[in-house]
Formats: sequence, structure tokens, C-alpha cells
Amino acid sequence: MQIIKTPAELNAVSKKLRSEGKTIGLVPTMGYLHEGHKSLIRKSAEQNDVTIVSVFVNPTQFGPGEDLETYPRDLERDKQAAASAGAEYIFQPEPEDMYPDGYGTFVSVDSDITKILCGKTRPGHFRGVATVVTKLFNISMADRAYFGQKDAQQLAVIMRMVSDLNMNIEIVPCPIVREKDGLAMSSRNTYLSAEERGQALSLSAALKDAEKAVKGGETDLEKIKRNIRARISGSPLADIEYIESCAFPSLEPYGGKLVEKTLIALAVRFGKTRLIDNIIVEPENREVRA
Ligand code: AMP
Repeated sequence: MQIIKTPAELNAVSKKLRSEGKTIGLVPTMGYLHEGHKSLIRKSAEQNDVTIVSVFVNPTQFGPGEDLETYPRDLERDKQAAASAGAEYIFQPEPEDMYPDGYGTFVSVDSDITKILCGKTRPGHFRGVATVVTKLFNISMADRAYFGQKDAQQLAVIMRMVSDLNMNIEIVPCPIVREKDGLAMSSRNTYLSAEERGQALSLSAALKDAEKAVKGGETDLEKIKRNIRARISGSPLADIEYIESCAFPSLEPYGGKLVEKTLIALAVRFGKTRLIDNIIVEPENREVRA
């Protein structure tokens, strides 16, 4: 496992790999790797000659008062996790390497896709994501990049950006990895107290019920969302930010009757911790993946 610190070093490594005819898979992360990240790394290792994992807590995607400073970091652990899942390189730049003095260029996906769901309460978040991901694509010269459905809106925004800007890279969506009890894995789960962690299970339980209802033939999205809300509201510590449905991957607002591939997404706060989770469903008793 080789740690690469600067964009120039990574670019030199990638140029060499490509000149040798090797394919490159990129897994962008903010580190503190868990099984969800490892599933992306494994997929990349399967599909490419070389896998690069970026570990970068990107300041431009955090808003004021968010957890930029407290975001968990543990590079030693990340090295082992990335190596055990099959990565060859970790790219771990400092913020000043990615955004040196005088930095002034941002990538902004301006359609409604960034204004709904998490975009409502996190203005600027997807601009930061699109910017850093574009930089990572350019520096790594990757053939493929791997993103989790856990962050379904992020995945949709990246797919839109790659299509809009004719970026020469394949985006590979990967399913959500969950703890045994259903909680979607997230580096931010470490913030939860035992009591919050227990109550947070209502998110995945509610979504699982929704999935079951759809498989049983339910097509009334408003009813499905009402049931999800009722289930989560049963957890006294849960503060619901949104429970919404929209077409996937266009993210066009979409309620009423379930007739096409639909994302049911939610964001819920437990104390200071903001959790997101989702499912993608289709009518005709079929659950689908991104
Ligand atoms: P993060 O480090 O949280 O920015 O996540 C880096 C990548 O890992 C993103 O593409 C996430 O969607 C993905 N990811 C995070 N958690 C999970 C999970 N539980 N299952 C699948 N992918 C995940």
C-alpha cells in the first residue's frame, strides 16, 4: 500500500500506469473506512488493474457549523482497510494541496437536482462535492469511479455532471452496505450515543417495511411515506428533516402512484448527528438497485 500525498505525485503515478496499459479504478472517500467503503474498493479491484482510494475530508463540501473539524480520521486503520479490500494506493492530500492560495474554480450542477433533498439544508454542499470529484477524476485519470447508493443524491449529481460535461469516466453505482441490525454504515455513526444508535434503527426498519409493502403490491407513495414518518416518529430522539420520493436518477419530484424507478430518501437528526438512508423501488413487486 503506497500513500500518495500530492496531486502532482498521483498524476505522475497515473500517467505511468496508463502508459503501461493498466486500467485505474478510483474510490473517492472521506476516510474512516468501513465495510461500505470496502465494498466499493472490492468492486474496483475486481474491475480494474489498479485501485486508488482517496481519503480527503473536503472542506468545500461542508457548510458553516457542520462537522468538518470533528469528522473522524484514522489513516493507519484506513491503510489496512483499503489494502485488505484490494487497493494499491491511498491518495491523502492536505487541503492546501487541493485548494492552494488563489484557488478560484468550482463545478456547480445548477439544475434542481442539487436544490432538493439534502441540497435544501446544505446549500453549497454539492458544489463542493462536484468540484473535488472533478479534481480527483482529473488527477487520477481513472477509467472508472465507484460511488455508493447510500449517498443517492450525490450519485445522481455525479452522473449528471459526468454526462453534462462529457467526462471520460464510467461511474459505477454500488449498493448500500448495512450493519447486521439494518443501520446503514456511515463514518458518522460513531457520533451516536447508545440510545441514539438504538433509536436510529427505526430508519432502516421503516424503509424495509416500505420495501416489503411495495413488493406486496403497494403503489401509493404518499401512504408509503406517511408510514415511514409514523414509524420514525415513534423514536423520541428522531428529528425528521425530510422523507421524500423522486424519480431516479433524474431526481424529479415524484409522488402519487409508483409507476417508475423511484428513490425514497430520508434525512433524520439524532442530537447533533444527521443520518441519511434510502431505498430505490420499482412497481411490479421488484426492488432495484441504482
Ligand atoms: P464518504 O467517505 O462517507 O464520503 O463515502 C465515500 C463513498 O462511500 C461514497 O460513494 C459513499 O456513498 C460510499 N458509502 C458510504 N457508506 C456506504 C455504505 N453504507 N454502503 C455503500 N457505500 C457507502
